[in-house]
Amino acid sequence: MIDSYGRNINYLRISVTDLCNLRCEYCMPKKGIKKACHDEILRFEEIEKIVKKFVSLGINKIRITGGEPLVRAGIITLIEKLSKLKGIEEIAMTTNGTLLKKYAKDLKEAGLTRVNISLDTLDDKKYREITKGGELKEVIEGIKEAQKVKLTPIKLNVVLIKDFNEDEIMDFVNLTKNEEFDVRFIELMPIGQVRHWSLDRYLSNENILKKVPELIEIESKDISSPAKYYRLSDGKGNVGLINPISCKFCSNCNRIRLTADGKLKTCLHSNHEIDIKGLIRDGQDITEIIYDIVKHKPKEHCLEAEEYIEREMTAIGG
Ligand code: SAM
Ligand code: SF4
Repeated sequence: MIDSYGRNINYLRISVTDLCNLRCEYCMPKKGIKKACHDEILRFEEIEKIVKKFVSLGINKIRITGGEPLVRAGIITLIEKLSKLKGIEEIAMTTNGTLLKKYAKDLKEAGLTRVNISLDTLDDKKYREITKGGELKEVIEGIKEAQKVKLTPIKLNVVLIKDFNEDEIMDFVNLTKNEEFDVRFIELMPIGQVRHWSLDRYLSNENILKKVPELIEIESKDISSPAKYYRLSDGKGNVGLINPISCKFCSNCNRIRLTADGKLKTCLHSNHEIDIKGLIRDGQDITEIIYDIVKHKPKEHCLEAEEYIEREMTAIGG
């Protein structure tokens, strides 16, 4: 599917739940989110139906996200079904990694291609602080298990946060010396109820290049990737910078998002959503709706106009 700006839309990100076992300061409001009732959330057979339709229209890359996707019961079976669909070339997952030790092997066997794991600090105490009680050890064990079963290449997502992890930039970059990780620094985005916290703690990714001037820019393998890639001269892995705030990457955006409650979003930073849950439940064909939203996918986001989105990040999936 080609949108009005000539972009090939081939990537669907599916949030399977807005629930999470962590409470990251920049993602989840302090009081938590209102728990959706069972009926408000897409059932797996409905997700499968939607994905089949998207794949028939040209989507070949899928990412499963959340909330925390591994807290949704039956997630392995969903991956197994989706990975068998003809036309899917890649099915990846974004996870906080805390449950990966338990599930990595089953995920791999179910057909998952690889994982992105979110990790904002390498310090136990700071990890507990930013996630409101998470255990770093679980994530480290999860990463090791993912490596063991070859859910690779593994991307580590690090949100850069002022007065929190800027002193760890070098430690994260050094992880790429001996391991084939892509360590990707993400600029903090002001989203949902916690947007003011994020605005206060925002740091531009330029700080990474200032702190590590020896990073060498390399060509990205995937032009639709939002990350600009760099390497240490003796590095095995890469360092990615994802700069939604300081430098837009909208001109290469190839994605559409499906939320856990059945809304389609064509831009992370837009409040515009199309509800398809009812249509799917009524057995209606959504082909024309998909063509229409692709046609109207915005050219770019307008965060600088302070048009912040209301939906929490945990309910979108990143
Ligand atoms: N729970 C999973 C995880 O943490 O990887 C998947 C969902 S989480 C919403 C997806 C990604 O969004 C994570 O890498 C997280 O760090 C990132 N994220 C959440 N809120 C963000 C924000 N305000 N700015 C930038 N990244 C954010
Ligand atoms: Fe949960 Fe991921 Fe949000 Fe953290 S970033 S609260 S792990 S959904």
